[in-house]
Amino acid sequence: MPSVFIKTFGCQANKSDSERILGDYLARGFVETNSWREADEIVLNTCSVRQSAEDRVRGFLLNLDKYLKETGKSKPKVILTGCMLHFNEKELKELLPEIDEILPIAEVGFNQKVVRKDKLNAWVPISTGCNSFCTYCIVPFSRGREKSRPEADILQEVESLVKEGFQNINLLGQNVNSYGLEKSGITLRKLYMDKENFQESSIPSNESQYFRPTTTPPFVQLLQKISAIKGVEKITFFTSNPWDFWDELIEEIAHNPKIDRFIHLPVQSGSNRILKLMNRGYTRESYLSLVERIKVKVPEVVFGTDIIVGFPGETDADFADTLDLVQKVGFKVAFVARYSPRPGTASYKLYPDDVPARVKKERWDILDQIANKDNLSVRPLIP
Ligand code: SAM
Ligand code: SF4
Repeated sequence: MPSVFIKTFGCQANKSDSERILGDYLARGFVETNSWREADEIVLNTCSVRQSAEDRVRGFLLNLDKYLKETGKSKPKVILTGCMLHFNEKELKELLPEIDEILPIAEVGFNQKVVRKDKLNAWVPISTGCNSFCTYCIVPFSRGREKSRPEADILQEVESLVKEGFQNINLLGQNVNSYGLEKSGITLRKLYMDKENFQESSIPSNESQYFRPTTTPPFVQLLQKISAIKGVEKITFFTSNPWDFWDELIEEIAHNPKIDRFIHLPVQSGSNRILKLMNRGYTRESYLSLVERIKVKVPEVVFGTDIIVGFPGETDADFADTLDLVQKVGFKVAFVARYSPRPGTASYKLYPDDVPARVKKERWDILDQIANKDNLSVRPLIP
């Protein structure tokens, strides 16, 4: 039987996609191998969030080349999928000539049997893509517009997971809060990025760009339906963005003991000036007020976050605001990344990457130290 090796780069969403890709391969008569040296086909499920993630894909292919030259073995078929598909086919073939095929993740779909690697936690995607266009982020380009999975499909998957013995259900989406809303157009933010010649003045003011649903948000309804399934013990969700963390969602968490008390709430920066340049759609005040409202209703809550240091133009004063916010919230875990300009994004086009690497590293170190001193756990994304 032919064998396949799947190499996954990046986040949990990619790991979940790889479980589906493997399911698809097994259904086509392949076996999985844990050694790329033995594989007939190699799938590279790529990440583009930072340049270093793309460099690692190049590194993998260089190793493969070297190995084939040394051993004289014939080349396995190499298939590329994931976030590097923000490059077009021609660009990819130039950048990574070893690639034989490009696989858009949408072609894999949700219909085959998923091969789950984690035996306790099941990862269930509820949406793909993103409508948010944070200025630094490649995801809206690599993954396209936000698209929610039909509720019935998700519930059916959860029911069969429970039958298989899973108790912990982890819902995945770039912004789970906006689940189900793109159909009605309620949360569609101004797609200023789609304009041909966008300018800084096109970036909407903080908090001016979001709409509230008038009925119970579909994500809250989904949580209610999943927790009603017998056998589901715990529901966790990633990622929940601060701008549409509805009051109804806070109430649901407060009254639903099956919902995890860990909430990942990426803040990215504690400076209003930088938040605006990032097009994050909230201020430090509104973020802190949201945290307070959640703490009041869910006293046992613990927060996690993502922070970018060294965004273009970030001054010492901006960074001090971030440190101050980190101390005020008391995050349990923080994924800290140094800003990496991504070609094609708004920040790449509009702002020079002017914070020196040394300063980015210093700020990264300081965040780490402050957090440790306060007995928080701040985890580096890039050491
Ligand atoms: N949708 C989630 C959100 O809004 O926070 C996560 C998106 S992204 C896949 C994961 C994290 O990568 C972001 O939260 C951000 O901290 C980091 N990131 C994204 N683009 C980056 C860039 N250009 N440079 C450095 N870090 C970046
Ligand atoms: Fe990227 Fe912002 Fe979308 Fe998260 S919400 S995926 S950071 S554009």
